[in-house]
Amino acid sequence: MAAYEYETHEYDCIVVGAGGSGLRATLGMAEQGLRTACITKVFPTRSHTVAAQGGIAASLGNMGPDHWQWHMYDTVKGSDWLGDTDAMEYLAREAPKAVYELEHYGVPFSRTEEGKIYQRPFGGHTTEFGEGPPVQRTCAAADRTGHAILHTLYGQSLKNNAEFYIEYFAIDLIMSEDGQCQGVLAWNLEDGSLHVFNAKMTVLATGGYGRAYFSATSAHTCTGDGGGMVARAGLPLQDMEFVQFHPTGIYGAGCLITEGARGEGGYLTNSEGERFMERYAPTYKDLASRDVVSRCMTMEIREGRGVGADGDHIHLHLNHLPPATLAERLPGISESARIFAGVDVTKEPIPVLPTVHYNMGGIPTNYWGEVLNPTQDDPDRIAPGLMAVGEAGCASVHGANRLGSNSLIDLVVFGRAAAIKAGQVVDPNAPNPTLNTASIDKALDRFDGLRHAKGNVATAELRLEMQKTMQADAAVFRTDKTLAEGVEKMYAVAAKLDDISVTDRSMVWNSDLMETLELTNLLPNALATVVSAEARKESRGAHAHEDYPDRDDETWRKHSLAWVNGKVELDYRPVHLDPLSDAEAGGIDLKKIAPKARVY
Ligand SMILES: Cc1cc2nc3c(=O)[nH]c(=O)nc-3n(C[C@H](O)[C@H](O)[C@H](O)COP(=O)(O)OP(=O)(O)OC[C@H]3O[C@@H](n4cnc5c(N)ncnc54)[C@H](O)[C@@H]3O)c2cc1C
Repeated sequence: MAAYEYETHEYDCIVVGAGGSGLRATLGMAEQGLRTACITKVFPTRSHTVAAQGGIAASLGNMGPDHWQWHMYDTVKGSDWLGDTDAMEYLAREAPKAVYELEHYGVPFSRTEEGKIYQRPFGGHTTEFGEGPPVQRTCAAADRTGHAILHTLYGQSLKNNAEFYIEYFAIDLIMSEDGQCQGVLAWNLEDGSLHVFNAKMTVLATGGYGRAYFSATSAHTCTGDGGGMVARAGLPLQDMEFVQFHPTGIYGAGCLITEGARGEGGYLTNSEGERFMERYAPTYKDLASRDVVSRCMTMEIREGRGVGADGDHIHLHLNHLPPATLAERLPGISESARIFAGVDVTKEPIPVLPTVHYNMGGIPTNYWGEVLNPTQDDPDRIAPGLMAVGEAGCASVHGANRLGSNSLIDLVVFGRAAAIKAGQVVDPNAPNPTLNTASIDKALDRFDGLRHAKGNVATAELRLEMQKTMQADAAVFRTDKTLAEGVEKMYAVAAKLDDISVTDRSMVWNSDLMETLELTNLLPNALATVVSAEARKESRGAHAHEDYPDRDDETWRKHSLAWVNGKVELDYRPVHLDPLSDAEAGGIDLKKIAPKARVY
């Protein structure tokens, strides 16, 4: 057994992750007087949320009529009827409250003439249950909305005496014999010390796993660490086959051009200069849902109408918009286009390509953020002491496809919900759990094994092999053949972990070891993704299957569950069809959200 000393800390709540969801949960817990610590591998304001440009959806109705039920309808349709109805109602209903809270905390939203929060149109957000024109629902702070939210929430968390452990890497969950989460083991990157955080409630807010793919808009830190920890604790991951490709990553660099660019009037063209989206989505055109636009772009390229020397990308035009509008509403992306594509957006189109952007799947939770450990008899059974929020979690409000600007609102609504729930279930006067030292030893052994790994495969090499495999075989276009190959290749890639080589044995800022730990988290996420995708014989949302082009509600309107332990074991749990409130109590009329074909 590996002998390491560690320092033990006791808290009521610990939150792993300081992105929008982690900070909102931390703030909410600290505000209630719960002793709360936030552990983060990067400085809080460098979390990926900082990159969110476009905005945050809420039916404030500042720019014209809007209603939470229209937002709910759009979310249900966007999810391709895979989201949980209760969670989607909670999201749409609580969204305005959560945004006004942000405003009062100090988020510097852009303003209308009358001083109200400015809202822009975004793909898939409509009026009148999809019958009316697009709505302006996405609240924005110019094109730096995530940046504004993150800075505000960090300041507020400090003001409320939340404690921060910055550049601490969480290695594994500490679990009791009977499946209760007791906290985490973490590694202080700066001085090499190890720390056990003992908590009555542990919240995973570790973000997505975009870096399982070769081309992604997400930060290099988005390595699905929460999903990896959960898989090692014997808990399942949910709906992992649903990976969102954003239509407009800058060709080559992968950096995001926000959908807000099309919201402000931007449009796509092929090599014939045709605005092809008018052909595929006559009503909402370039503002159809993301999976739809990504798929159409891929079709244009496959049919030989891509732009550029290799005909392998598409043009995004903003050059018809007034330069003043671009400078005021889209300053950040104008700069990104100049730096990463060498394009002056006032004069030329931007070269773009669908790029991995968001993980709809993640750690299954209810709408309070409580992690689920489902069984056949009890598909909603709770894993005690553990919550998951933000992109790491799966509540599930995005189902098979997330609408733009619905993630930032998910972060704050469910970060807030987790804090409310913790206020109800965590007793600040109760003693902390007695730690299961066997679980700590197991985590230390794994850490030590990797630290001294003497195999033949470098971490960067194996990571690249995984990324290329996922990009080739589990991307926008999927067939039985590519997915079967993907499963086989990913198992082969994962097996090479036994032969990994780590060259740096030190404890202080050992980035070789940290990247290896991250790879051990990316791999279970990637395996769950490709195996769940191979099993799902239908097309739904982001999972567009060439051999099964139709959605099959009869057989497949259910959540996939994947337990990853060497092999992946699959099972399913039912989608929640009941809303929180019935129509008489002011809830949505269920007929309005009954499944139908998803056209835009
Ligand atoms: C470029 C880009 C633009 C986007 N624009 C929008 C938009 O306009 N609107 C919208 O709604 N959505 C947008 N999204 C999606 C949205 O921003 C993300 O889904 C969301 O920010 C994720 O937030 P999070 O709180 O879940 O995690 P993140 O912000 O990714 O933060 C993860 C946190 O976990 C910590 N962490 C991870 N692993 C560990 C570990 N092992 N130990 C310790 N700490 C750990 C990290 O340090 C970090 O603090 C965008 C995404 C991208 C990539």
